[in-house]
Amino acid sequence: MASKHFKHVILGGGVAAGYAAREFVKLGLEAGELAIISKEAVAPYERPALSKAYLSPQGAARLPGFHTCVGSGGERLLPEWYAEKGIELILSTEIVKADLASKTLTSAAGSVFTFDNLIIATGSTVIKLTDFGVQGANANNIFYLREIDDADKLVAAIQQKKNGKAVTAVKLKDGRVLDADIVVVGVGGRPLTTLFKGQVEEEKGGIKTDGFFKTSVSGVYAVGDVATFPLKLYNELRRVEHVDHARKSAEQAVKAIKASEEEGKQIEEYDYLPYFYSRAFDLSWQFYGDNVGDTVLFGDNDPASAKPKFGSYWIKDGRLVGVFLEAGTPEENKAIAKIARLQPAVEDLEQLKNEGLAFASNV
Ligand SMILES: Cc1cc2nc3c(=O)[nH]c(=O)nc-3n(C[C@H](O)[C@H](O)[C@H](O)COP(=O)(O)OP(=O)(O)OC[C@H]3O[C@@H](n4cnc5c(N)ncnc54)[C@H](O)[C@@H]3O)c2cc1C
Repeated sequence: MASKHFKHVILGGGVAAGYAAREFVKLGLEAGELAIISKEAVAPYERPALSKAYLSPQGAARLPGFHTCVGSGGERLLPEWYAEKGIELILSTEIVKADLASKTLTSAAGSVFTFDNLIIATGSTVIKLTDFGVQGANANNIFYLREIDDADKLVAAIQQKKNGKAVTAVKLKDGRVLDADIVVVGVGGRPLTTLFKGQVEEEKGGIKTDGFFKTSVSGVYAVGDVATFPLKLYNELRRVEHVDHARKSAEQAVKAIKASEEEGKQIEEYDYLPYFYSRAFDLSWQFYGDNVGDTVLFGDNDPASAKPKFGSYWIKDGRLVGVFLEAGTPEENKAIAKIARLQPAVEDLEQLKNEGLAFASNV
């Protein structure tokens, strides 16, 4: 079969792919230069929606509502946008073989793609109960949540549930038995790096990169969940499996690719402050920094309160290194981000507890 060549290929059609495409267009892209290859059937979307608004009983989010880049307040990139910009979206296409030396990708159907630059953005796969040999792990109505197809299956099961049981119960190690009709398993993910085993340097379970998301192979970049990159703030190589990093690492890799095309052009190294947000029911929280060391809880975490606002500081080697805050205002969230980056010295943990959020707000 004839191969198709692109100057740039993004492998994976998730969060990082959408933000990378937008950055390519921002910095200048000719029609036909870029392809996104994804095994999903839809254009890049904001994956966190799958465990939140997608499951709402009323007014549930559906595509095209949450295509990237709406999650960070940006433009919603519909399939038409990619067509307009001359970006080829090669969907429902799983790559089963990658040969980095010959810069070739081969799909399950036998299509061959070649590239000058590759951005690996394959994300993670879920860890399954079968991986631990859990008895009954193959029963009906046990669900995992990674891709939109998984979410659709879960929604269908929730809607049909009224007529009863598939799984019947969940048995815990301590002997407790929980009655259940539907089980959603969330026991972690694993970065999808298998296609590249033995071809590229790995570290801490991911593909090792520098501060520009370049891997050990020339012209090959890795971003998002799969990248193990230098986290400058902690002087350590880390992998970060959160959406904010997926977006920013993708943009950084594209900036690096575009800079490499211009002689003498240099860009700043990635200098990331880990950031995670999430929502469940009427709770909504943000976390900045590192969750290591001693913890100091503050605020009102009484579930009976009308609107509990509480958080936690992490203190390591006498410095505040991380902050979690539930129900923060935009100003308060800005304050905790600032303090997590500044890492002020903390001498008295009791005093910090008493000051609570005011400590961050006053820095
Ligand atoms: C349900 C859910 C909820 C989440 N909620 C939050 C949250 O609230 N806050 C937060 O910070 N983070 C959250 N995350 C994490 C966040 O979504 C991920 O960190 C982010 O999506 C990573 O982006 P990525 O582009 O690296 O990978 P992904 O977005 O996972 O994209 C990977 C893409 O690669 C494709 N792919 C993989 N292998 C191949 C192959 N061989 N051939 C072709 N295509 C392939 C996949 O199909 C997918 O399209 C959540 C994740 C999930 C699953």
